[in-house]
Amino acid sequence: MTTTIEVSGGNFRPYEVIVGRGLLAQLGPRVAALARGRTVVITDETVATLHGPAVLASLAAAGVKARLLTVPPGEGSKSFAELERLIDRMLAIGLDRKDVIVALGGGVVGDLAGLAAALYMRGIDFVQVPTTLLAQVDSSVGGKTAIDTPRGKNLVGAFHQPRLVLADIDVLATLPERQLRSGWAEVLKHGMICDVAFFDWLAGEGAVGSKGEPEALHRAVVRSVEIKSAIVGEDEKEAGRRALLNLGHTFGHAIEAELGFDEDVLTHGEAVALGCAMAFRFSAVRGLCAAADSERVEAVIADAGLPTRLEHAGAFSADRLRARMASDKKAEGGRLTLILARAIGDACVDKAVDRAAVHEFLKTEGAA
Ligand code: NAD
Repeated sequence: MTTTIEVSGGNFRPYEVIVGRGLLAQLGPRVAALARGRTVVITDETVATLHGPAVLASLAAAGVKARLLTVPPGEGSKSFAELERLIDRMLAIGLDRKDVIVALGGGVVGDLAGLAAALYMRGIDFVQVPTTLLAQVDSSVGGKTAIDTPRGKNLVGAFHQPRLVLADIDVLATLPERQLRSGWAEVLKHGMICDVAFFDWLAGEGAVGSKGEPEALHRAVVRSVEIKSAIVGEDEKEAGRRALLNLGHTFGHAIEAELGFDEDVLTHGEAVALGCAMAFRFSAVRGLCAAADSERVEAVIADAGLPTRLEHAGAFSADRLRARMASDKKAEGGRLTLILARAIGDACVDKAVDRAAVHEFLKTEGAA
């Protein structure tokens, strides 16, 4: 089964997100329809080994000349150095604005290749072929592209929407279990934001998706993309409603930063899961949502094998965490902006959260 979701609205050209099985084999004809017969496929070394041959075979069969450009796997590749190296190789190949870039990989490759596409000759088209669950349900849709600098993550980037997103459920079969679970955190997040019925399904029958069952994964990806694309269609540049997608991110990001973004200790998805649990507990403490909702969110996150409580909490300083939260780029005008919840499926933006209340809460979470 294949499902197509149109992403539209705002000032960008509408595009399709196609979700299904065996889609890598369809990449060739789809790129041929968009490009003049030439492409570069940007990927990381791990994905190149696992899925590069199928992608190149599909492109060759459709008569598209393709070059594979690889970067090392991991967040470290979202750097000026890798961006420059990629753009230099694209120039050497002679790619021009009628050509198309294919981003084949997780969020790292999507963000980096997307930014290269946004910058190359003032912008060329690109196709996202997300190969992690996180990239399929989140980063490949919505047009945010970025690299990191030593001063912080995602600080240099552009909005550049893809021409097409091909989310092949079959490629998730090679994904390590921990990566699959990390992507599941973003799936749960979408239910928590605005769809309690979806959350109920994820908590029950759909939970097998977090273990890799393809039909459940298909449905989880489709509904997540529907939710994200509807929000992006309304608010591409995050002037308002798009901020809801940051549920769990301000708490999570502060914790990731304190851990030096060490993915071996805490992946981004794990940080989001923990951040969502904290956002619901904080909402409950403030009387915004029922304690029962917060407890349920915690139970469902834990069932998926994701963290809900700060491990070694005493090693974290409440002062430092709160300062990190305030310096997060989602903080506005000196006040703390947090995504909170009135209920499961009813998240809201609070732009005037009292810093002292956050500090107090972090103490109750165990921070020193
Ligand atoms: P990732 O791209 O680093 O991929 C995780 C690991 O999985 C890598 O080692 C990769 O080589 C490997 N991998 C990828 N696909 C595989 C497959 N099919 N089989 C086996 N291994 C595979 O990480 P990620 O979690 O996909 O993305 C995280 C990045 O996404 C972060 O940089 C984050 O900032 C970014 N992000 C961007 C947005 C956005 O809107 N642009 C949203 C969320 C996250």
